[in-house]
Amino acid sequence: MQQTADDLRKEGKRIGFVPTMGYLHEGHLALVRKARELSDIVVVSIFVNPTQFGPNEDFSKYPRDLERDQNLLEQEKTDIIFFPEKNEMYPERYFTFVQVRELEDHLCGLSRKGHFIGVATIVAKLFNIVKPHYAVFGRKDYQQLTIIERMVRDLNMDIEIVPFPTVREENGLAMSSRNTYLSPEERERGLLIYTSMKKAEELFKSGERDAAVLKKEAERILSSGSGVDIEYVSISDAETLTELVRIQKKAVLAIACRVGKTRLIDNTILTEA
Ligand code: AMP
Repeated sequence: MQQTADDLRKEGKRIGFVPTMGYLHEGHLALVRKARELSDIVVVSIFVNPTQFGPNEDFSKYPRDLERDQNLLEQEKTDIIFFPEKNEMYPERYFTFVQVRELEDHLCGLSRKGHFIGVATIVAKLFNIVKPHYAVFGRKDYQQLTIIERMVRDLNMDIEIVPFPTVREENGLAMSSRNTYLSPEERERGLLIYTSMKKAEELFKSGERDAAVLKKEAERILSSGSGVDIEYVSISDAETLTELVRIQKKAVLAIACRVGKTRLIDNTILTEA
């Protein structure tokens, strides 16, 4: 892959990259289309990265279907699908990790210790292998996007990070490979995340700037159906991810919940006008 990337660069081709863990859905494919728009060559990686899963998380049962993913990517005219093996990425005696401090100490980083070290490490490795000009990331994983943007800046990586809006199902549920774990009834309950976010957003638009009021309203809606366990409802500074009391600049309302055994996250940006 590295040799191919070198050759493409020598030919003056612009490389666009979409890293994924596979089990692709419309959200992933929208990122691929964005990469296509920006570049001559589109590379998509599929790798369920073990270092970003905690010991009690779903690494072994994370959904996988390479053949289906390959078909979907071929329909999108993806030029290169990169699907390395675990021991190619982490051979024996692998010692090096990338940590983006501060930004990992909020939101999902609080309950998923070490998760973002795994994410930053694999993305840095993939960037060195694929050598992209552009890399497209979904806003659905807002903290991940923020961390990758910071890593690129702090480590002087010559790559443009392109954020992409969250792609949702018709009813508003954010698309996720993990949605496949949900029973039809859990899907209904999962919708409360979107409803609660929209309600808080409405209050914000009508002038409410007290973060506690918005969070309380979102929590009220989330708790209205049984079977949604709130992990956090947070309103934080969109850049530093520190929790806000009053919303005076661009903020992100982020939610993490468990619906049955499935952990779901979503977020929306709260900004003037
Ligand atoms: P994953 O395969 O879940 O690691 O996600 C790979 C990329 O797709 C990441 O940049 C995610 O933020 C992005 N992504 C996942 N779900 C969505 C979605 N519903 N809308 C937009 N981007 C998404």
